[in-house]
Formats: sequence, structure tokens, C-alpha cells
Amino acid sequence: MKWEDQERSNNVEDRRGQGMGGGRPRIGGRGIGLGSIVIALLAGWIFGINPLTVLGVLGGDGGSGSPQTQQAPGPAKAPPPQDKAAAFVSVVLRDTEQVWGKVLQASGSPYKEPKLVLFRGATPSACGTGESAMGPFYCPGDAKVYLDLEFFDTLSKRMGAPGDFAQAYVVAHEVGHHVQNLMGITAKVDAMRGRVSESQMNALSVRVELQADCLAGVWAHHSQKGKGWLEQGDIQEAMNAAAQIGDDTLQRQSTGRVRPESFTHGSAQQRMTWFKRGLDTGNANQCNTFDGKL
Ligand SMILES: [Zn+2]
Repeated sequence: MKWEDQERSNNVEDRRGQGMGGGRPRIGGRGIGLGSIVIALLAGWIFGINPLTVLGVLGGDGGSGSPQTQQAPGPAKAPPPQDKAAAFVSVVLRDTEQVWGKVLQASGSPYKEPKLVLFRGATPSACGTGESAMGPFYCPGDAKVYLDLEFFDTLSKRMGAPGDFAQAYVVAHEVGHHVQNLMGITAKVDAMRGRVSESQMNALSVRVELQADCLAGVWAHHSQKGKGWLEQGDIQEAMNAAAQIGDDTLQRQSTGRVRPESFTHGSAQQRMTWFKRGLDTGNANQCNTFDGKL
């Protein structure tokens, strides 16, 4: 991906130098095995879920042992311009702003840009304390994407999904959740919480996640059309990432057993299929995952 000279977003908030990290990031650290990371991802990479609930699911595997008190983050700060990893995320975020700005305007609704928070370890969010071990997430309550850049290392080295466009897909997926929030889908799904069974909620979550994958594909379509910045192998990197974070792939790696009824994000095949559908069509109307078979 030829991103270096492209415009950067003003919406990146750098909290990496701030407290509440509780020491070094746990992800990729010695205290946490791949299984734990994988389970954390399964549980946490869901939009709208309260991260404190996620920690409960993990049975205290959040690291610190005691619940952290909510504290307000310091004043928003942009990342240092020479920070390459942050610059990459910022360029991708800017492009999502441009693409969704145009796409949504064409459909008659203005795009409200989300913020993207870079953090290390842990950080407060309107959805509770965000933890690195949960993986990147979007919080509809404050319309912010939360990302610990260490996740990209995990994605590349432990999950077998290297490449800059794999990372771009992750950012675009989270931005996809923001688009869902703007379209009112998030609120509708959230209203079902507690009114349907756990397995029904899981099934609903899969539809939400596959739609975010499809919207990431829609972004990739328009992004390439506008900038022509993709290189050989980039699309493959994103497709591979989608496959590596498929629920069946993750479950096979962590427990050796695949339990489709517990899927929250969709299988590798489903994730690739929906990303590709968005990518091929560039049409968000093709991303209706709530209708019929997946
Ligand atoms: Zn998601």
C-alpha cells in the first residue's frame, strides 16, 4: 500500500503516554497465551459490548486483578508526526473519512467522523475500561475507535495475518461499526440485548460483524478507486486477515473444537465472502447481512 505521502486525519487521539496503562501492555506478553488472546478477541472484538463484561467472561484474565476506577483521559493530543505506525493509521482513517463522507452524502446523510484513540494497556471509554487484550474495538457511546498498535504485531506474528493492508482492514472494520452506529443499526441490535437468548444474541452479533466486514470492503473499493494505492498482494492480505480472525479458525487454534453456535463474528469463509462482496460492489446496500442466510 503506497500510503506514505497521503493526507492524515486530525481525529487521532494519542493516549499512549498517559497513565492507567497499568504497566506494559499485556497483549503479546508472557503472561497471556495465544488461547487467552484469542478468547479475548472473540469476546471483545464486538462493537458495543461493555469491556467490563468482557473481563467477566475472561474470568479475571484481564491482568490487573482488580477493577480499575474510571478516570477521565487527559486533553486530546495528536501523535508525534514522525511516528510511522501512528501515521499509517492516521492516513487510513483519513481515507475512510473521505470515502464515507462521499458515500453517505450521496445517500443523503452527512458523515460524522469518528475519533480514533491510540492507547497502551488500558484506557477509559464510554463503554467502560478498554483493555489491549480485547483487541481493537469501537464504542458507540463516545463514537471512538480504540486501538493498541501492539495488536498489529499480534495479528502479524501470532495470528498469521501480516501486511499493511491487513491492518487497514482492521481499522476499516472498526470504522464500519461507526457507520452502523450512524445508520441506527447499533441501537436496534443493542435493544435486543437481554430480550433474546444468548445463542440468538450471538447469531445477531455475527450479522453485525459480517456487515462491518462488508462495509470495510466497500471502503476498500472506493479507496482504491480514488487513490489507486493498493499494491500486489494487498487484497490478499486483507482476505487472509479476515480468514485468520474467523471464529472457526480462532476456536480451532485455542480449543481444537469448533462450536458454530458460539460464533460471534462469523466463520473464516463468511468473513472473506462479505468483505469481498463489499469490495467487489462498492455498494453499502449490498451489505444487508440481516436478511436471510449468511
Ligand atoms: Zn467488529
